Amino acid sequence: MSFLKTLFVNPPSFDGFDGGAGSRYQAKREIKSLWYPTWLAQLAALVPGSRLIDAPARNMTADQVVAIARDYNLVVMYASSPSFASDIAFAERLKRDVPGLMVGLVGAHVAVLPEESLAASEAVDFVAGNEFDFTIKEIAEGRPLAEVDGICWRRNGKPVRNPERAVLEDMDRLPSVIDVYRRDLVPEDYFIGYLKHPYMSLYTGRGCKSRCTFCLWPQTISGHRYRTRSAENVIAEIARAKEMFPEVKEFFFDDDTFTDDRPRAEEIARGLGKLGVTWSCNAKANVPFETLKVLKENGLRLLLVGYESGNQQILFNIKKGMRTEFARQFTADCHKLGITIHGTFIVGLPGETRETIEETIAFAKEINPHTIQVSLAAPYPGTALYEQAVENGWLETEQRVGRSGIQISSIGYPHLPREEIFEMVAEFYKRFYFRPRKIAEITLEMAQSWEMTKRRLREGVEFMNFLRTRKDEAVS
Ligand code: SF4
Repeated sequence: MSFLKTLFVNPPSFDGFDGGAGSRYQAKREIKSLWYPTWLAQLAALVPGSRLIDAPARNMTADQVVAIARDYNLVVMYASSPSFASDIAFAERLKRDVPGLMVGLVGAHVAVLPEESLAASEAVDFVAGNEFDFTIKEIAEGRPLAEVDGICWRRNGKPVRNPERAVLEDMDRLPSVIDVYRRDLVPEDYFIGYLKHPYMSLYTGRGCKSRCTFCLWPQTISGHRYRTRSAENVIAEIARAKEMFPEVKEFFFDDDTFTDDRPRAEEIARGLGKLGVTWSCNAKANVPFETLKVLKENGLRLLLVGYESGNQQILFNIKKGMRTEFARQFTADCHKLGITIHGTFIVGLPGETRETIEETIAFAKEINPHTIQVSLAAPYPGTALYEQAVENGWLETEQRVGRSGIQISSIGYPHLPREEIFEMVAEFYKRFYFRPRKIAEITLEMAQSWEMTKRRLREGVEFMNFLRTRKDEAVS
């Protein structure tokens, strides 16, 4: 079968912007962070002869990407809500400079707002809905757009919405992305502060059974059933990746909640243990001690845990399905087993007050994850939080990032203005990190490795710059 010459592009954006097809909440982070563009790599793995360009990771300019695109017939870009205006501008540039090129967009934003996204510019020939893997493969095969499920496209200037794409049940049908990683990406380009460098992130399944109201992917492109690749398939992929990428120090399973299926997580862990690799994953703070022990004994190094808030009522409000006492027990179990935790928190969720922010800061200090990330509540189209924010008049701007790509606060409450919510992120970080216990932990960590010393010093400088830039940006 012949295919259109297809280029997959993570478009150029703000300097240091993690807007990639792998980032859930696109923004410039506290310290240099970049996720692998795995959703696009998945597409590239399905389309023979294609190429994947991750422009932000390679520091490529729009001119450079356009020059490459001249050799292709089809460009598929990953678009996001915060970067949508610049994604469209780039699509227009491509269309203007490369005659005859077909341009399509994928990602949560266009899947939720297909007609609006298509109407944003004549430069966009189609946008894809959820489960866009085989949708794009069929378009790359040259199938007429009218015959491809799961897209919104233009016929005689009018938008046409084709039938939905069926949900992919057999996840083992998806080819491995690691050959695309090897061919088109450079592992050293990808940094995540809490992961060893270079790391490699992959998906072993899609979806999360929880229904957190703010969480983007399960409410849009991944769904609420955790559909998984078989344990053998995952273990075989990591065995191959270990051979292909001897430079990679850690594998990260970026499934929404890798620990949602505990027997499978344990089975994969046992396989990884035999391979002797170091790995980490996303987890909810509800994994029992026995499972944690199996994972730890088989190479698990770190868990990325969304605590969100230390206030129980807020956890109820956002449907987290989590009790603070479970989170405390889980964290204590991880400390006991020597599992490192990167804990994520959100300020500005429904029900937030000055007192609940204080409570969450105190909670974070008490449970003491190794590192933390503090985000602003970000209502993305397609989420229950977005609907709620619009209905209640909390959404004060549709803008989600400021001039330099840093996240800004778009939600405000009558009792808690968004300017104050924005300020509390920096305050949270300062009070968590600038305390004797944390400083001693980081100093000890640095004393044990020169590599870590260099890295933490660089991150410290980046972090202070980030706080300064935030101040300038305010709520924008
Ligand atoms: S548990 Fe995590 S991944 Fe699942 S819906 Fe909640 S925030 Fe999202």
